Amino acid sequence: MDWESLRNEMVETQLVRRGITDEGVLETMREVPRHLFVAPGMESRAYGDHALPIGEGQTISQPFMVALMTQALELTGSERVLEIGTGSGYQTAILSKLAEQVFSIERVESLTARARAVLEDLGASNIAIRSGDGTIGWKEFEPYDRIIVTAGAPEVPPSLEEQLGDPGIMVVPVGSQGLQQLRIIVKSEGEVSVRDAGGCVFVPLVGREGWSKET
Ligand code: SAH
Repeated sequence: MDWESLRNEMVETQLVRRGITDEGVLETMREVPRHLFVAPGMESRAYGDHALPIGEGQTISQPFMVALMTQALELTGSERVLEIGTGSGYQTAILSKLAEQVFSIERVESLTARARAVLEDLGASNIAIRSGDGTIGWKEFEPYDRIIVTAGAPEVPPSLEEQLGDPGIMVVPVGSQGLQQLRIIVKSEGEVSVRDAGGCVFVPLVGREGWSKET
């Protein structure tokens, strides 16, 4: 397989044509080998325009959604980012190239272990991953310049809003278990502003400040 051509084509047809303009995001998605993050046997579908199963009932997000959320974070390279829902680790890898440090929490232990192994193989050294309930954040390293939640929440988890620094940006899908709005929360000079950036569908965020279970 010519993975590099598949990546370039993915970036042109799925991202550039749909309005992703952040050069850092586009460049990074041309580089990161997405096929290493999908379930074994699914490599040939890794660059398609869709989410894919990664086991444990979870999914690796569609490339466009990864790009849209990452672009919304407005990363400049100096940020400390908290990610909730490591999943495959693909989004984590993208963040690690565009920010200074990434802290990532995944609820399912087997996924945490697999993501950690793939990211280590790729030589990423600015990532800390742990298994646990990310809805309550990661107190030890707060505040975060950016927070990204890649599972659907019933509401913005208050602990995450608290652990977001000022200035800070958080991206989080909020809505029902079947459909969410991509919410962008910006903290600046003591004020919080919120806007919705369109519909999306994520697996549920399950935890103390999320859904009590998947239905
Ligand atoms: N960005 C990931 C998305 C994985 S799907 C990727 O593209 O691969 C969302 C992930 O969120 C799932 O792996 C799920 O197990 C995880 N998740 C759900 N609730 C969580 C919680 N409370 N804390 C941490 N991770 C959670």
